[in-house]
Amino acid sequence: MSVTVRFAPSPTGLLHVGNARVALINWLFAKRHGGYFMLRLDDTDAERSKPEFVDAIIEDLRWLGLDWDRKAFQSARLARYTAAAEKLKADGRLYPCWETPEELEFKRKRQLARGLPPVYDRAALKLHSEDICRLGEEGRRPHWRFKLDHVEVRWDDMVRGASHTHGATQSDPVLVRADGSFLYTLPSVVDDLEFGISHVIRGEDHVTNTAPQLQLFQALGGEAPRFAHLPLLTDASGAGLSKRLGSLSLRDLRRQGIDAMAVDSLLAKLGTSDAIEIRHGLDALVDEFDMEKFGRGTPKFDPAELDHLNAHLLHGMSFEDARTRLAAAGLPLADEPFWLAIRANLAQVGDAREWWAVCRDPIRPVIEDAEFTAAAAALLPPEPWDTATWGTWTTAVKDVTGRKGKTLFHPLRLALTGRENGPELKTLLPLVGRARAEARLRGESA
Ligand code: GLU
Repeated sequence: MSVTVRFAPSPTGLLHVGNARVALINWLFAKRHGGYFMLRLDDTDAERSKPEFVDAIIEDLRWLGLDWDRKAFQSARLARYTAAAEKLKADGRLYPCWETPEELEFKRKRQLARGLPPVYDRAALKLHSEDICRLGEEGRRPHWRFKLDHVEVRWDDMVRGASHTHGATQSDPVLVRADGSFLYTLPSVVDDLEFGISHVIRGEDHVTNTAPQLQLFQALGGEAPRFAHLPLLTDASGAGLSKRLGSLSLRDLRRQGIDAMAVDSLLAKLGTSDAIEIRHGLDALVDEFDMEKFGRGTPKFDPAELDHLNAHLLHGMSFEDARTRLAAAGLPLADEPFWLAIRANLAQVGDAREWWAVCRDPIRPVIEDAEFTAAAAALLPPEPWDTATWGTWTTAVKDVTGRKGKTLFHPLRLALTGRENGPELKTLLPLVGRARAEARLRGESA
């Protein structure tokens, strides 16, 4: 099977987890089958498309670790769409319509009131040439509709299975607006044909476009790709994500300190039969990818799951992988012993700053029992220290003071770190160092 897929965002906003999921699944599908992945920017809406969103989309896809073999802007391909529209006109498949939005709305309401489906009545096809001349003279400009064949259109959806729609149940879609600009449908089909797209993997919100698009592929004399429509993500309560998209943009997740691999690990598996677990690289996700695993159930996106995966990712991350992330979090000097000591305590990389401060900066110790901690300070062994130091020292403290268990360890932790909880002290203590440890045990900020 030769595979070429595309991710086709409109650069009218930032990528959110829903779009990112479609991008990732297309990319994984391409990689799994040794195929090609294309980035297509659907920017025919000149007013709403913005170059800054193009840049943001590219940056966010790169952040996710996705790359593309080809990139195209629809705004640069208008001549191709005009040529296709001319062919359709010549074949009698694209016809001019003159209704105003108000007239269309009125018709729609009347149909609904009569219990009829709100399908365009093709009144424009019944106009005489004199009517058309008059409309033109009045300065009205037509929009153009694609005349659907009133036949059953069938396709084998890779997610939804055998699917069909009858042409008569849908309005003839508008392909060209009155101002001459193209709506999404025709450019998308022209591009899918010209770029040899083999599989269209997209959200279920596009399933009603499929039958008209299949008719367009046929009308333009091309072979249609296979389709896969993924159920849309909902929030944990089952409501659509759209209301909260702002907080779920990839930018925001990144700003919140979520790692791209946590996002990838979650989005690659949501809605599949696989367990959701952290993966440390996209290669693992490629190996595990199979379109057959995607079901029709509604995948729920839960930000808490992302936090959980992110924490797991950090807990198992090598220093090599952590180094650039630590530098980006403002800790260019963090070294391997530090990373290994604290990684199990992180929910986000940024949390490392707190532990860096505990190891390197003055902190205010918390002293519960000054006599006890002073006694412990006096027993600190000389440096050099290693991970065995904690055991030797606390055994000595235990012997001298008679304390054990929590009453022994907890006051030491509070004095040494100023915190109730944290990394294992046997790894942290050598990083704090003797001078600082002694001062803190004596109640001094150090
Ligand atoms: N630009 C369309 C969208 O963002 C592409 C849909 C498709 O994949 O066909 O929804």
